Amino acid sequence: MAFGKSTLNSGYEIPQVGFGTFKIPDGKVAVDAVEFALTHGYDHVDTAACYGNERSVGEGIRRSGRRREDIFVTSKLWNDVVDYEGALAAFDTSLELLGLDYLDLYLIHWPRPLGVRDDYVRRNAQCWRAMEKLQREGRVRSIGVSNFLPHHLEELFKSASIPPAVNQIELSPRCRQDDAVDYCRERNIAIEAWSPLMRGDGLERAELLEVAQRLGKSPAQVCVRWSLQMGYIPLVKSISPQRILENIAAPDFELSPRDLAALDKLRDMGRRGSDPDTAAF
Ligand code: NDP
Repeated sequence: MAFGKSTLNSGYEIPQVGFGTFKIPDGKVAVDAVEFALTHGYDHVDTAACYGNERSVGEGIRRSGRRREDIFVTSKLWNDVVDYEGALAAFDTSLELLGLDYLDLYLIHWPRPLGVRDDYVRRNAQCWRAMEKLQREGRVRSIGVSNFLPHHLEELFKSASIPPAVNQIELSPRCRQDDAVDYCRERNIAIEAWSPLMRGDGLERAELLEVAQRLGKSPAQVCVRWSLQMGYIPLVKSISPQRILENIAAPDFELSPRDLAALDKLRDMGRRGSDPDTAAF
């Protein structure tokens, strides 16, 4: 398995593949999945307040028996939080539910929540100021954003003192977001890929199956490799032990220019998730 780590602009290291937990129900399913992932090759777990499973994710971390310093844990600030005080309180709640005394990474989940769509610049500036305070206090090691497009980042930079370490966005063979990728690369913001397996919607495409067959890999393994080869940090989710293993097994292969050209055909499918400027939440 053996994935590397990269270094964020905060100076901290991040494991190159994360375990995603969106839609994993709170309770035994989440506890078991996180424990299994952390004892079978993953060092990095991605959750969020809105997933409603932080308590179980924390329990899975403890049951894994892994040392806290050997695991990278991310959570995210939800859209109902719109100001400085609210952000500080939301962070406390996440940390308490997880049962941790620090987070490795805390992200603003979406840039333009429906409730503050026209006032999002002020909201993000206030939440970011709270996150900078949390980082200075050592309660979170790195801070970042999610689903931010270049225009949202431009606004954030006007008031930020600490640059985001990460932007977590939808990225897969079907969803490319070239402008956001270029913008982040130019500013040394690490790029995390959400729905790297396209939420399963596209794994059956003929072009992907053909590449997978030729390389003797599964379509999901090709997607993980694609993400790594693009320089992204894929966050892969599964509740099935067999798939949790499959998704990170034997990543040490190379997609050729011909393979990459075949995967480019999936661009016609576009996003699987929401557009950050028009999301209905
Ligand atoms: P993924 O692209 O990881 O796909 C997950 C889906 O694919 C599940 O239905 C899973 O089913 C299935 N699957 C997993 N492995 C395989 C396999 N080997 N073969 C076939 N199907 C497979 O989607 P997510 O949307 O969950 O994204 C990953 C993570 O990114 C999230 O869990 C979350 O942590 C993060 N995320 C962040 C967002 C944000 O706004 N910041 C938005 C969405 C996701 P099963 O579980 O039954 O195996």
